[in-house]
Amino acid sequence: MQPVALLGGTFDPVHYGHLRFADDARRALGLAELRLVPARDPPHRGGPAASVADRLAMLRLAAAEFPGLAIDERELARPGRSYTVLTLEELRREDPARPLLLLVGADAFHGLPTWHRWREIFALAHVVVVARPGVALEADLPEPLAAEWRRRRVREPAALFSTPAGTIYEARVSPQPISATVIRTQLARGPAGRAAVEGLLPREVLTYIDQHRLYSTPPDAT
Ligand code: ATP
Repeated sequence: MQPVALLGGTFDPVHYGHLRFADDARRALGLAELRLVPARDPPHRGGPAASVADRLAMLRLAAAEFPGLAIDERELARPGRSYTVLTLEELRREDPARPLLLLVGADAFHGLPTWHRWREIFALAHVVVVARPGVALEADLPEPLAAEWRRRRVREPAALFSTPAGTIYEARVSPQPISATVIRTQLARGPAGRAAVEGLLPREVLTYIDQHRLYSTPPDAT
């Protein structure tokens, strides 16, 4: 059965790290579609620098370049903090048997034990982890997560298609050394920083950022 696969994030702004990682993982798993799920109010960080409307507009421009990527707007419409477990519960109610795949970068995976009702995530979805430069995947996992890793890790993706939830799988895709924090910091530096981010995100997204004067103040001044 074709799983529903998700990449949640702040996408502040969306960049090729997200897009290539999501699309490469989608291809590696043989999925027709992967959904990008922007968070309205992400629990683990200060508020996003750009508005919901701007982040969504940038995502739409970016997704147009990747036919296999769709946007799921449910967290933008839901009041309260954008907890992933609530999104997975909604999807599970919509289809009790279909496998759900939650993609996370290695940095987000390490932080999983700080997520709201994190252990319940494994009852709702499979977790697909991808490498991110600078973050060792298996080393230094916090102990409760290391125990889940030992218990749930599968080396072959078959279970992602045959069972609804419960395993952890490492998808082997090329790491992308791009982060939204670095992009925001560069953009706040002015023209030199603007030149440095060319190629890190779709041209249409950069044009949108220019037109709407986004990320022009230093991150710590917002
Ligand atoms: P920030 O720098 O603001 O924290 P970010 O670039 O990490 O932003 P998020 O929107 O917070 O982007 O990330 C959403 C998800 O995408 C997370 O699971 C994160 O690990 C993953 N991700 C983001 N960038 C990459 C990348 N370059 N390679 C792999 N995973 C990534």
